[in-house]
Amino acid sequence: MEFQNTEAFARSLDREDPLAPFREEFLFPQEGGKDVIYFTGNSLGLQPRGARAAVDEVMQDWEALAVEGHFKADRPWWTYHEALRAPMAAIVGAMPEEVTVMNTLTVNLHLLMVSFYRPRGKRVKILCEEKAFPSDQYMLKSQLRFHGLDPAEALVEVRKRPGEHHWRTPDVLEAIAQHKDELALVLMGGVNYYNGQVFDMESITRAAQDAGAAVGWDLAHAAGNVPLKLHEWGVDFAAWCTYKYLNSGPGNASGVFIHQRHLGREDLPRFEGWWGTRRETRFLMEPEFDAAPCADAWQLSNPPILSLAPLLASLKLFEQVGMEALQAKSRKLTAYLEFILKEVDREVDSTFEIITPPARGCQLSVFLHGEGRPLFDYLMAQGVIADWREPNVIRLAPAPFYCSFVDMYRFGQILKTGIQAKGKG
Ligand SMILES: *Cc1c(COP(=O)(O)O)cnc(C)c1O
Repeated sequence: MEFQNTEAFARSLDREDPLAPFREEFLFPQEGGKDVIYFTGNSLGLQPRGARAAVDEVMQDWEALAVEGHFKADRPWWTYHEALRAPMAAIVGAMPEEVTVMNTLTVNLHLLMVSFYRPRGKRVKILCEEKAFPSDQYMLKSQLRFHGLDPAEALVEVRKRPGEHHWRTPDVLEAIAQHKDELALVLMGGVNYYNGQVFDMESITRAAQDAGAAVGWDLAHAAGNVPLKLHEWGVDFAAWCTYKYLNSGPGNASGVFIHQRHLGREDLPRFEGWWGTRRETRFLMEPEFDAAPCADAWQLSNPPILSLAPLLASLKLFEQVGMEALQAKSRKLTAYLEFILKEVDREVDSTFEIITPPARGCQLSVFLHGEGRPLFDYLMAQGVIADWREPNVIRLAPAPFYCSFVDMYRFGQILKTGIQAKGKG
């Protein structure tokens, strides 16, 4: 499609966008009486309009029913989390029984390591991408030390080539082959938070398993952003937060995937709690753990219902739209943003460099060569909410659920004015 850098053209794209009405389902911060241009759905998704009512429902049940809310609320709390299962499974390409929602992301990665990181003999190493999200690095290194291993030796980090800003799949596969006999686990981010790259999860999963390693994916930047087929790919486990593209609210719960072939395995160690038992026997208060026949077996505590409420509201929107329609809009919207960036770059003779490779979701990470923090501050003052990473990268993630093509056009105009105001363009 030929794009044009005009408001009329952007409006025409919005008019033909089947997802455009969903913008109304989200609450935008206001700047100068207008919705901000929101590029940080990769950090904290906007609040779905239905979130407050979902929370209020729990508050009212708590007020009116108190402890009886566990069983007598319209949506009883003791099975509340089960309503999240099917919509969440659809988002990550899983069977419903392979998915549960619990705790928060880093906590869940640690818990899953108990089951899937089993260093033995020479096979102790963990492979990840270099400069993984800091929490993942801390998690992996502390796990290695917990097992008496030295991260300097046992953590294999796949590097980008000098001068390049993305990883090459063959380099990942080669690193796997190189450490073949010593690899216990491959755990990587499915979409890298910094450059927005989507890893070839299917090929990497297959290669790692062929080498005899378990494979886990941190899908914090992937869930709700890119197509995932965790079941079909045979991934051993995965976890993701829900407050980024899944719009569940700050610090909210995490999704977990455990492949069907691992469910019910008695040889797999796991840390256990009462919410991991079959619900039919849970309240018999028996001394022996009677595992739920699904990913719920990894649950520990009775879940925080007030957190799950806004997540449920958000997942209902995903159910209505479906990942396929979301993908289709996402590809077009991000392509339009890329076009706008290149137009502005040309018009003001600037030097943007998009470091996100073609294997991408909605995020574009852009090096602003010759521009610095002042330009970013200008954008923020004009109601463009983006994200700055040192040294001079801005990350722009137009979430297809609520961002419009006119947003992209308006952003381009603001960006151009910002650069010209500095007397550069
Ligand atoms: C956002 C993010 C996290 C955050 O972890 P929490 O435990 O939810 O604070 C972890 N890992 C990655 C890759 C992320 O993008």
